[in-house]
Amino acid sequence: MDSVKNLPVAVIGAGPVGLATAAHLLERGLEPAIFEAGPTAGAAIEQWRHIRLFSPWRFNLDAAAVRLLEPTGWESPRPTALPYGGELIDRYITPLAAAPAISSSLQTGARVIAVTRQGLDKTHVRHRDTTPFVVRVEHADGETRDHIVSAVIDASGTWSTRNPLGTSGMPAIGEATAGDRISSPLPDVSGRDRATFAGRRVLVVGAGHSAANTLINLAELAKDEPETTILWAVRGASADKVYGGGDADGLPARGQLGSRLRRLVEAGTIALHAGFGIAALKTLDTHVSVEAADGRTLDADVIVPCTGFRPDLDILRELRLNLDPAVEAPVELGPLIDPEFHSCGTVPPHGAKLLAHPEKDFYIVGMKSYGRAPTFLLATGYEQVRSVAAALAGDREAADAVQLELPETGVCSTDAGISCNVPVTAATRDAESNCCAAPEPVLIGIPTGLAHGRSGEL
Ligand SMILES: Cc1cc2nc3c(=O)[nH]c(=O)nc-3n(C[C@H](O)[C@H](O)[C@H](O)COP(=O)(O)OP(=O)(O)OC[C@H]3O[C@@H](n4cnc5c(N)ncnc54)[C@H](O)[C@@H]3O)c2cc1C
Repeated sequence: MDSVKNLPVAVIGAGPVGLATAAHLLERGLEPAIFEAGPTAGAAIEQWRHIRLFSPWRFNLDAAAVRLLEPTGWESPRPTALPYGGELIDRYITPLAAAPAISSSLQTGARVIAVTRQGLDKTHVRHRDTTPFVVRVEHADGETRDHIVSAVIDASGTWSTRNPLGTSGMPAIGEATAGDRISSPLPDVSGRDRATFAGRRVLVVGAGHSAANTLINLAELAKDEPETTILWAVRGASADKVYGGGDADGLPARGQLGSRLRRLVEAGTIALHAGFGIAALKTLDTHVSVEAADGRTLDADVIVPCTGFRPDLDILRELRLNLDPAVEAPVELGPLIDPEFHSCGTVPPHGAKLLAHPEKDFYIVGMKSYGRAPTFLLATGYEQVRSVAAALAGDREAADAVQLELPETGVCSTDAGISCNVPVTAATRDAESNCCAAPEPVLIGIPTGLAHGRSGEL
């Protein structure tokens, strides 16, 4: 058993949460082995480096990472400033990845394709908890290698697995064939991807933070390129939820984004098509024709899919997981963040205990820990990994003492006398009696994904 404990702890993904995990492991005297699929740390955020975060720096830095950075002469950004994704990379993620303790443990161009227990498939139980894990990695040199580790922390995010455009969780008929006309989820429409969008008919699909950002940037592009047509399809009956609560938002940048969007729709710059659930896509020579379930059609040259994300569970197939059947988050976390009942970015602080699976010493953290729920905040992830590192080091007391203060965000019912800070159990969720199921939700911010607190809209 001691020899297993001396093995490194695998960290899948070098996003902000993966790197914070490594910093906490190092503080605990544990050796991380970080595998990052992209060419550099922060590879997912690199895809949206042109987007401004809605939470200020003070919520975006991990305490252990800062302790690791400070002796290197790193300068902390102004705590109240709102960074762009690119600044998060340049001023925090890149220096952190370059810190000697991290860089010596980080392999880039290293995609994890499977995780299992050495010599045991999922059905074998004998000595399971004391058997090391095997992490299979495709390396940039073209070789696939197995790495033997004592524990595995999956911080691989959800960026690479977007939700389909189709309404039923499946791709719309013809979606795969239309692939050439579907962009990445957050293209830089007025910057590096400008040529794809200027003067074209662009259809943005979705009702979250990403859709709002893309629509506002397209409106900027259309000022210079007046031939650009901006279409916006949302599945819900209106876009009111996306507009948010303006000044009342706990994160003011999000409130402003919603207000700007509303003005652009009211001015006719953006043509909103509400209640437009996509059933099929027909790829024609010159454009793609998008059909709604009710028979309406929209013609577009390019589609931007802001439909949210889901976790890649394939790589975890040989592990014994306990996931919420709806949200695909660890089973105890699911009810706290289920978008059917919650739009809050605010959840009770949680750590190793809540994130545990039947597979001992395996944890899903960060964006991926929220499964299909879109409300994850970095500050939540940093507290998760502080607790997980403590648990792996055997410090149960520190692991259980979870603490976190977040601004209130999202669509919460405040007139019900309770807020979304209140834990919701599976039982109350089933009874539809929790805070966000209250009849008149008070909007206090733009949501960050596809659809939110749906039962609260009834
Ligand atoms: C546009 C946008 C704006 C956001 N704004 C905010 C905000 O203002 N405040 C906030 O708190 N949160 C925000 N979030 C939510 C969240 O904090 C970010 O998505 C954040 O990047 C999540 O960090 P992460 O480390 O969990 O995942 P990621 O940043 O996605 O990092 C995961 C890493 O794992 C790598 N990877 C994936 N699969 C594999 C594999 N199989 N093997 C090896 N490596 C792999 C990826 O390349 C990536 O580098 C925002 C999200 C988006 C999309």
